[in-house]
Amino acid sequence: MGIGDRFGFQGNYQLQAFEQALAEGVEITPVWNKSNREHTIVHTLPEDVRREADEATAQRKWKRDYFVDADHINNSNVVKFIGASDFFTLDVADFIGKAASEKDRFSFVSSFKKYTGKLSVPGITRPFEISEKTLYEIAGKYLSAIQEAGAIFQTIENIKGRDSFVAEVSMDEVADPQTPIELFFIMGALSMEKVSFSTIAPKFTGRFNKGVDYAGDIKAFAREFEEDILVIDFAIKEFNLNPGLKLSVHSGSDKFSIYPEMARIIRKHDKGIHLKTAGTTWLEEVTGLAMAGGEALAMAKGIYARAYERREDLCAPYASVIDIHADRLPRPETVNGWSSEKFANSLRHIPGHPDFNPDLRQLIHVGYKVAAEYGDAYRNAVISNADLVGKQVYENLYERHIRRIFL
Ligand SMILES: [Zn+2]
Repeated sequence: MGIGDRFGFQGNYQLQAFEQALAEGVEITPVWNKSNREHTIVHTLPEDVRREADEATAQRKWKRDYFVDADHINNSNVVKFIGASDFFTLDVADFIGKAASEKDRFSFVSSFKKYTGKLSVPGITRPFEISEKTLYEIAGKYLSAIQEAGAIFQTIENIKGRDSFVAEVSMDEVADPQTPIELFFIMGALSMEKVSFSTIAPKFTGRFNKGVDYAGDIKAFAREFEEDILVIDFAIKEFNLNPGLKLSVHSGSDKFSIYPEMARIIRKHDKGIHLKTAGTTWLEEVTGLAMAGGEALAMAKGIYARAYERREDLCAPYASVIDIHADRLPRPETVNGWSSEKFANSLRHIPGHPDFNPDLRQLIHVGYKVAAEYGDAYRNAVISNADLVGKQVYENLYERHIRRIFL
């Protein structure tokens, strides 16, 4: 399970949620993930994430696996992550649709020619119709992304050495979902590019906005998710892939309405999954500060007010993963009059709670840049209220995520 922690204070509390799951018989491997974008905005380094993970696991005597994920890296920034990370999310979304050479496209077609005609995948009732044209088109769309994954993987392997890291291939930050059958050939071609990957993150049907629920057709998602799981199983056998290969869901956190479907399907097929959550831990910090009242509440309100003023700038880099209705955002003057409870209940994601405001939640989610600008004042506020803040972090991860999907 991928967990984010923008400011790096909550590792210990996050780990408590995994301990609780383990006590109930479910082993979940924590993966602390942080992207280059987050590092740049918060002014942290990959080594800071490594330190946090090592310290939290040492303090709590966690004896199971854990990882540090260089999240959504590409060939232009991977090098600085290599020393501190042992999990790499190779983001090749930008290369989707870029033309590969004709020669490579035809060689892709000939490699997979044996799958043309009616292709049956065990567990999926209708067979897929595959022609050489289908293969040529899949190559046109994905081959250069696959080749780029090969190049990034090679960069890491050259420096870090073989089998010393876990690789994920991600294509999720794009507009169009990959179909299960496209995923099948993408995995085959990745293996031909010598990418040894343990998880793969496609783009699924529907919107995966940060910190709020799924927006889309739940039945269509469930069908696609199940077919992806079955296609992965088939691909493992056909292409001799890593037998533990898992589907990765870059959930953006809080996809409560599809968690039951995911839980049902992984149980039905007895499969693992990589569930990546976003840096919503930071929202629990703001919730905790609001609940603390006094200066901490004033800071939470100040963060909102500044984020509100700068909403267009803050939202721009996240356009494909947030949907904020500006007219539903409360004015900062209104928020300034709020009690601790009103603020916390507006931000905390309890579906159906009359005060919950998903627009405010998404805005604060992308507003961590503002907190970073508060610098030590923000950090000191979190440290001074560590127990109250940590309780929010633990409860969120355990009660709202882990319990819903894994228990
Ligand atoms: Zn992602």
